[in-house]
Amino acid sequence: MNILYPCIGIVGTGAMGRGIAQIAAQAGSTVKLFDTQADAARKAQAALFDQWDKLAGKGRMTAEQVTAAQQRVQIASVLTDLRDCDLVVEAAVERLDIKRAIFAELEAVVQAHAVLATNTSSLSVTAIAAGLQRPEQCAGFHFFNPVPLMKVVEVVAGLKTSAAVCADLAAYAKQMGHTPVAAQDTPGFIVNHAGRGFGTEALRIASENVADFATIDRILKDQLGFKLGPFELMDLTALDVSHPVMESVYRQYFEEPRYRPSVITAQRLAGGLLGKKTGEGFYRYVDGVAQVPAEAPPPVVASIPPVWVSPRATRRLELLQLLKDLGATIETGAAPSSLALTLVAPLGFDVTTVAVVERLDPARTIGIDMLVEAKTQKRRVLATNPATRTDMRDAAHALFARDGSPVSVVRDSGGFISQRVVATIVNIASDMCQQGVCTPADLETAVTLGLGYPQGPLAMGNLYGPTNVLEILFNMQTVYGDPRYRPSPWLRRRGAIGLSLLHVEE
Ligand code: NAD
Repeated sequence: MNILYPCIGIVGTGAMGRGIAQIAAQAGSTVKLFDTQADAARKAQAALFDQWDKLAGKGRMTAEQVTAAQQRVQIASVLTDLRDCDLVVEAAVERLDIKRAIFAELEAVVQAHAVLATNTSSLSVTAIAAGLQRPEQCAGFHFFNPVPLMKVVEVVAGLKTSAAVCADLAAYAKQMGHTPVAAQDTPGFIVNHAGRGFGTEALRIASENVADFATIDRILKDQLGFKLGPFELMDLTALDVSHPVMESVYRQYFEEPRYRPSVITAQRLAGGLLGKKTGEGFYRYVDGVAQVPAEAPPPVVASIPPVWVSPRATRRLELLQLLKDLGATIETGAAPSSLALTLVAPLGFDVTTVAVVERLDPARTIGIDMLVEAKTQKRRVLATNPATRTDMRDAAHALFARDGSPVSVVRDSGGFISQRVVATIVNIASDMCQQGVCTPADLETAVTLGLGYPQGPLAMGNLYGPTNVLEILFNMQTVYGDPRYRPSPWLRRRGAIGLSLLHVEE
């Protein structure tokens, strides 16, 4: 295999520069390390050698491969040492003025064919390239941390970047064993843009006091299959990294309400509750282990009243079957009897509104989230309204926990927790398709590899039903009157006719 760029330069040899150097040298490029900080390049080289020794120890590299990789790494003491590089990847500090100065200096040093790439995660590639003589040779090449393990890279085209440069960077990414995705130069590119739904909506839910952090995490993991809950994830990433990303995307989109950050993270960042690395974030950590409060056992109740299910309930037949399986006495009348526990299962509406609209007694009305198919629900989520009687709440909780299934009881909100998060993720992803940030296929790839979601956001929309997602958003917009829940036209058209979100337009 002929390596596309036989000689590459790395400017800035911190966490990212090192990772990129590692995979490039492993793929067969000569790698020249440059850093302005004294000794940083040498330390990076030593760290690479160490890393390769470890890989050899685990049997992942042979001794010959290690020697060959080591021989390909050189230290550049001045920037002009990069003059014969075919590609230079800049991974210095995240400041526009510094990146522009680095590229202006580099352009005067390298040959005309050389490609200048930036690993920026939040700055505009177009702005970085703006002062260059050859902006067409400049692109974004956005890796994720840790580079060798995060197998996706965004190839970002600035307004003047040539298509051939992007195609070559994508081909080179593959030679390094990574999956390239093509992104337009827009705030957050693909992964940091698509990632706005999960944490931002969870924070919004927490800020409404619908449930505590641990309950929100449990619900999203058990119902939707996320490996980590949003608060666990923010603790791991640390708020000094994730809060500025939220602010940056929001500001760059001129305060688009969909991306509005939360005062919760702003305050915690100011207070130094950054996450696992500081020993306290949304959770407290003892020896690196999150101290998660235990769930209370389900209440013990003497008897369970008969249950009446609203004719408008989502997945009504599944819900009735579930109640039967749980041994409930089901009422079949047109209206609930005066004793009945009254169940509603709305999409996007709150339990209170449904009780009013369907003329039900709010004191006996409980909501259950039926977005996820009953059979696959690993946790059942119930919501009370402000008037719900405790005996009715406890009866519903005990009933739905009868088969040992975990049950969470949360406060009423427009849309259940899982509904809100799914709808927000799918809506943001749809809007990215509408804007043409990337292709739907690259969006799915970038999110599954870059964020580790159980499925891509469009596949998630298909799983829960584009029409259901649309209904959640329409109803949430009514409840909240907040433009952040405004459905993207891309989703509206597809959801309205029940079309797959992965359908390719002719
Ligand atoms: P880092 O602080 O670990 O390393 C930055 C290195 O750049 C330091 O060694 C510093 O001495 C050096 N440097 C600073 N100014 C320089 C200059 N003018 N010339 C040469 N070297 C210079 O930072 P990092 O986490 O590796 O991030 C580097 C870049 O990658 C940033 O643009 C960042 O936004 C981006 N990025 C970071 C991550 C991440 O998770 N850390 C992920 C994707 C992208």
